[in-house]
Amino acid sequence: MTYPKINKLDLSKIEPGTTNKFFLTVVEDGLGRDITVPIFIAKGKKSGPVLGLTAAVHGNELNGIRVISNLITDISSEISDLAGTVVAVPIVNTPGTLQNQREFIDGVDLNRIMPGKLNGDRSQRFAHKFMKEVISKFQFHIDLHTASFGRINSLYVRANLEDTETKMLAQLQHPQIIVHNTGKDGSLRGAAVKKNIKSITVEVGNPQRLQKSLIKASVVGIHNTLSYLKMLPIEIESHTAEPTICQKSYWIYTEFGGILDVLPDITESFKKGDKIAIQYDVFGQKIYEYSAPEDGIVIGKSTNPVSQTGSRILHLGVVK
Ligand SMILES: [Zn+2]
Repeated sequence: MTYPKINKLDLSKIEPGTTNKFFLTVVEDGLGRDITVPIFIAKGKKSGPVLGLTAAVHGNELNGIRVISNLITDISSEISDLAGTVVAVPIVNTPGTLQNQREFIDGVDLNRIMPGKLNGDRSQRFAHKFMKEVISKFQFHIDLHTASFGRINSLYVRANLEDTETKMLAQLQHPQIIVHNTGKDGSLRGAAVKKNIKSITVEVGNPQRLQKSLIKASVVGIHNTLSYLKMLPIEIESHTAEPTICQKSYWIYTEFGGILDVLPDITESFKKGDKIAIQYDVFGQKIYEYSAPEDGIVIGKSTNPVSQTGSRILHLGVVK
């Protein structure tokens, strides 16, 4: 299947009541060939907001690709009922995905340099054009991620909970955990928020794989969002469990080098002083027991036992 290539994204030129698939040229590679990103646009006949969905800003975080492809199927079959516009980018960091890597071609993490720079280096220019042509057209935005390599995550949302509508977006995803985070970190979400776009990050499980149940749960969350924004006449699904709200979160790191065993599971709660990890030397002799510095919940954890000094142990969410 070939799809038309475009250089600019002009939503006003899209015919109401249609779905469209394009490849948007963002930059050129060293042979002068276009580096493109796939873009799906569904524009309803009725007016309404622009909801943007993005995935694989980190090239090896793949669950979001399937979340978006499932939504493309659903929205295409309901296009006659759609109000407003859905713009979905199943892979943002296309060069990274082709290399099975998190970073862009130049080894830079795109989610730390947003909104990029007009006259910048390779990753900065890619980020800048993508922000300008795609993200700046959104009013609402959901950025789909997973854990990084060697770690696992709960289904959790990062959002600025001080903003009522953003908080609502977070809750509609029915995640296990919501972490309050203002996004001043060079992330795509942070750059979107600066443009007054209501934006959240949804962390959907683990890297470099497709996980059916988590994909299904995230699709439900986006359906809920379409319902809440009155873009599709569908019902919001009822909660199975309320999310745990964390006011902040941080990683705990190893003090020594050795083989690490992280004890609690994802979403498990613990008290200050509880044992959370044991580290052994290469002969199996116990080196150190790590205990929780305060009460918390496991948002994510390391699954890579070989841990040098300063390796991640677990991502601690502070509930109070
Ligand atoms: Zn990510």
